[in-house]
Amino acid sequence: MGFEDNIRKVTPYTPGEQPENKVIKLNTNESPYTPSPRVMEALRGLDWDRLRLYPDPAMSALTESIADHYGVKPSEVFAGVGSDDVLSMCFLTFFAGNRPVLFPDITYSFYDVWAEVYRIPYETRRLDEDFRIVPSDYYGPNGGIVIANPNAPTGIGESREFIEDILEHNRDSVVIVDEAYIDFGAETALPLIEKYDNLIVVRTMSKSRAMAGMRIGYCFGNSRLIGFLNDVKYSVNSYTLNLPSIAAGKAAIEDSDHFREIVGRIKKTREKTAVELAELGFASYPSDTNFIFTKPPEGYKAKDIFLRLKEYGIYVRYFDKERISDYLRITIGTDDEMHMLIHILKEIIKK
Ligand code: PMP
Repeated sequence: MGFEDNIRKVTPYTPGEQPENKVIKLNTNESPYTPSPRVMEALRGLDWDRLRLYPDPAMSALTESIADHYGVKPSEVFAGVGSDDVLSMCFLTFFAGNRPVLFPDITYSFYDVWAEVYRIPYETRRLDEDFRIVPSDYYGPNGGIVIANPNAPTGIGESREFIEDILEHNRDSVVIVDEAYIDFGAETALPLIEKYDNLIVVRTMSKSRAMAGMRIGYCFGNSRLIGFLNDVKYSVNSYTLNLPSIAAGKAAIEDSDHFREIVGRIKKTREKTAVELAELGFASYPSDTNFIFTKPPEGYKAKDIFLRLKEYGIYVRYFDKERISDYLRITIGTDDEMHMLIHILKEIIKK
């Protein structure tokens, strides 16, 4: 086979579909609302001539705003092209040992892909029958730990004490807490970065700040850990975020009113939708996120409902994967979109 033997072959992560036509899109946990108007102002105010130049590789305007907003030092912040980029850099930086990295069997399905692509040994730990993480599963020797809190696609969030217990038992490995959905529920582990020098807390602007298209993610950690992360980043690609993204991210983080308004709306719609789904016989997990993980009533298959909804132009997420193939993950849209979803589900369920 010659050169084929030298090619890195991987099974890639499969992102949710991005259909071109007008559909009700409840399949990739995007926000149904527009970003802060200050983002548009910032983009309009960009100096066109500055695009000739490379952006600030340290992204200081953004990382300083983030640090200021969360009350941490700028040296404790790292930003990247979505939290996927941040997480990928974390895997590359912090998981260079021979012991296996641990994460749950049901979680964000990108973790095993990064482990594979970077040749990082890993093991999964089974969520319990209620799809909860079992902390003692993470007590043994390991090469690192990744926990999504709230977890995806279950939507279940855990307390800070719960996360701290895992940290307490793992002083010798880096623990990454992926808080992509934290603004919709659960308790952040952020204050623990002062106490645990092995903790990284990852965030994104894709969900609660309605900026999936801008691709901005960031993480917090002890300055030394962030330093190691920067060393790797500067060894792969110095200029990750472009000039418009840096300006847009800064504007987004500074508009707390807009943030609170849209997160509040999504949480309200989520509670209403959960009740309506229950009335139709769906069994949902209590959600701390901007989506609901739900099992259709007896006699209905999740995959069939997923396909039927698609015929009506409503996209939700279905995972053809062990343990979760009976469930649907439904992103919370606007009230009108959820009203339409429930209306169509009533049609499907009665047949
Ligand atoms: N972590 C989790 C748990 C997610 O669900 C997602 C969204 N697919 C991400 C990280 C990555 O999001 P982004 O790259 O848009 O920040």
